[in-house]
Amino acid sequence: MRAGDHRNGPRPGTLAVHAGSGPDPGTGAVVTPIYQSSTFLYPAGDRALQYTRYGNNPTQTAVHEKLAALEGAEAALALSSGMAAIATAILSVCGRGDHIVAAPALYGGTHSLLDRELPRLGIEVTYAEDADPAAWERASRSETRLWLWEAISNPLLRVPDGPALAALARARGITTLVDATFASPIHQRPASFGVDLVMQSGTKYLGGHSDLIAGTLAGSAERIRRATELMHVLGGSIDPHAAFLLERGMKTLAVRMARHSENGRAVAEFLAGHPAVERAHYPTLPDHPDSEVAARVLTGGAGGVVTFVPRLTASETEALVGRFRWIELAPSLGGVESLVSMPSMTSHRMMPAEKRRERGIPDAMVRLALGIEDSSDLIDDLDRALAGR
Ligand SMILES: *Cc1c(COP(=O)(O)O)cnc(C)c1O
Repeated sequence: MRAGDHRNGPRPGTLAVHAGSGPDPGTGAVVTPIYQSSTFLYPAGDRALQYTRYGNNPTQTAVHEKLAALEGAEAALALSSGMAAIATAILSVCGRGDHIVAAPALYGGTHSLLDRELPRLGIEVTYAEDADPAAWERASRSETRLWLWEAISNPLLRVPDGPALAALARARGITTLVDATFASPIHQRPASFGVDLVMQSGTKYLGGHSDLIAGTLAGSAERIRRATELMHVLGGSIDPHAAFLLERGMKTLAVRMARHSENGRAVAEFLAGHPAVERAHYPTLPDHPDSEVAARVLTGGAGGVVTFVPRLTASETEALVGRFRWIELAPSLGGVESLVSMPSMTSHRMMPAEKRRERGIPDAMVRLALGIEDSSDLIDDLDRALAGR
């Protein structure tokens, strides 16, 4: 059995706890210790040099094993941030003269990397017009080496047909890279439908407590070997203490995701039926443009991010998001606590207002990143704030 073959082997909740974790061979400690050491004795024989920048510190390799099992991939790698992971992944595939086709809606940092930094290295990017696989084929040319998309996009929570895109790319010999941060390996395992490289911002659901910065990659042994080789020289390796926190967070990933997604669905349904709400966005809502795709490509839930547009002006909405008792005003997602932000003032601040409106992101849009509190308290909070109290 391949690690992570969930049809026959252990399920994600069991893998999250046990895969890659302790006991420590030296001491019998049940939990993998923090090996806070940059270097290790010269190995006897031909074993590889052990040095923490190389990603072979035991606290790091515990994360690699757990993550590979959860992603259902041959191998995995932890890095110092989500951006280190995505930059290392792209540069492990593309060089001068190569071309990338990317989804139109990506994380802001990824957009900056694609629009500002990669062109300086002679790597060109075209954005596919929409999620339709035919648009990706039209945007591709003979130099296209990589297709890049997010499993669930921000802030409209669009869900591309990953299996269809992966199959088309494979037929053309194009590598695929998916940022699956919003789904986590609990709700989507892109490696299981043939995606070559899967990236996560470990800062979000994997870590789960808003207390660390980390990123991860998963894929075939050969692709992860190449990414690791590049990490040796780019240097985006994860610190042992952050690796420990990441592994500790991942142990509860399955139970936390179940709660995040239960809250996501309950809050989305509440907002969709509220008279003071013009529009709610969540992949399981029947009026969501990708609800059918989501039902096919996401398993067991759609995560804790819900977006809505109240029937208010942008400045009235600013007052609204300040009235919550439990939901705190801060960027990011994936922690146990619920957070709220307005895309027009955070992730999409740099985009001209007109372009935002064209993209379906009005200035009064609110993004909720729901935590694991009780959904009835979150709903009470929203209900009260929408009533102006
Ligand atoms: C946060 C985030 C990133 C960047 O991750 P960092 O850990 O902050 O570097 C990339 N993609 C998505 C979808 C994110 O939410």
